[in-house]
Amino acid sequence: MPIAKGAPVVDVNQRRIINGGDADVMQLYPMRHTFAWDAYEAGNANHWLPTEISMQLDIEQWKSDSVLSDDERKAFETVLGFFTTADSIAANNVVLAIYKHITSPECRMYLLRQGYEEAIHTHAYQYIVESLGMDESKIFNMYREVEAIYEKDNMVLSLNEGIFDPHFKTGTLENDQKFLENLIVFSLIMEGIFFYSSFAVMFGFQRQHKMTGSAEQIQYIMRDESQHLNFGINLINTIKEEQPEVWTPGFQEHVIDLVKRAVVLEYTFATEVFPRGIFGMNADGFKQYIEHIADRRLERIGLPKQYNVENPFPWMSEAVDLNKEKNFFETRVTEYKTGGQLSW
Ligand code: FE
Repeated sequence: MPIAKGAPVVDVNQRRIINGGDADVMQLYPMRHTFAWDAYEAGNANHWLPTEISMQLDIEQWKSDSVLSDDERKAFETVLGFFTTADSIAANNVVLAIYKHITSPECRMYLLRQGYEEAIHTHAYQYIVESLGMDESKIFNMYREVEAIYEKDNMVLSLNEGIFDPHFKTGTLENDQKFLENLIVFSLIMEGIFFYSSFAVMFGFQRQHKMTGSAEQIQYIMRDESQHLNFGINLINTIKEEQPEVWTPGFQEHVIDLVKRAVVLEYTFATEVFPRGIFGMNADGFKQYIEHIADRRLERIGLPKQYNVENPFPWMSEAVDLNKEKNFFETRVTEYKTGGQLSW
């Protein structure tokens, strides 16, 4: 696109998350969506690398015959099998689908940071798999072999297909809703629901003092992911404000349906991975936990709760509770910078 030589300063009121038109995306200022800049700064302050976390104890425990049961090994492997491809799906969606349609430069800044964080997460799984001497090909191919992982990934990928089309453009009601659907499927469902039974299992191991290096990796990942989710929710809610015409009653019903479908896939995944339960978490517990977080995701984008159930894993709320997130960032960032352990 040629530069509009001599054009006046961009009018901040023209800035839009999508469909920003002539509001030059190369100029960071004037800045309208300051939540994106805040997220970018928080991401930088939370920078971490997988190789900084010791895996020594995990290696000993994984190689020992007396620490982990067969069920625990299977659960650990399958959860990793989900994680290994999930962040690659996330990275592709950020870079190849979302980025080009976003016309807010500060949102693009955060998406660049987010894309890098997704790469760090894939690196973390690679590092765990390699450290423990697991079969890399088996773990990284699980999304094509384990039905419950396939079903989750397939839901996300098939719904998002449209906006990967090189000819896809925002700017019509139908396409703006399609784009918003992508954000909802990707942020709210993939990052906000499909990660959470796997997070719960990893913290289950940690509470038993098992595989604590891996669990610590996952804690750093979850801290990043809760920021990705927050950012995604901000994008969704800001598009709703900027273009209220997209948020039709029919579309809202559609979103609730998608979340309900995702809830079923997620607790099916949990019960297939842990058919006999694990660490006191059984099928009913997982179902209720997933329903509980799905309600919270719906509320964040202004939709009614569907399940109205208590959190059956109250110990998870310390680790995952988005209400505590601010507090969490304030306390943890400093500890990370001084090399302290990430404890909750
Ligand atoms: Fe993410």
